[in-house]
Amino acid sequence: MALEDKTLVCRDCGQEFVFSTGEQEFYQSHGLQNEPSRCPECRAAKRKERFGDSNQERRMFTVTCAECGVETTVPFEPREGRPVYCKECYAKQREGG
Ligand SMILES: [Zn+2]
Ligand SMILES: [Zn+2]
Repeated sequence: MALEDKTLVCRDCGQEFVFSTGEQEFYQSHGLQNEPSRCPECRAAKRKERFGDSNQERRMFTVTCAECGVETTVPFEPREGRPVYCKECYAKQREGG
C-alpha cells in the first residue's frame, strides 16, 4: 500500500499538521490504528506535562531516619537494608567516622 503525507488537524490547537509517510510507517509498524489527533507541538507539551521536566526537578524520596526517626527526603532511592539518615544524623555519622 502506497503511503502519502496526510494533513490532519490538531484537536488541541486546531492547527493543521502533516502526518508524514515516515510517521505513518512508524504507526503501522507499532500496530497503531489511530492517526495522531494532536500536532507534534501539542504532543510534546502533553508529554512534558505528564513526565515533568526531569532536568529541572529531581525526584525526592521520603524516608525515615534510621537514627532519630524523623521523616526526611533524599534525592536518591533508598536501598533496602541500608539505613538512611536525615541531614543532621548523616553529618554526625560522618564526623564519628
Ligand atoms: Zn496542536
Ligand atoms: Zn536523624
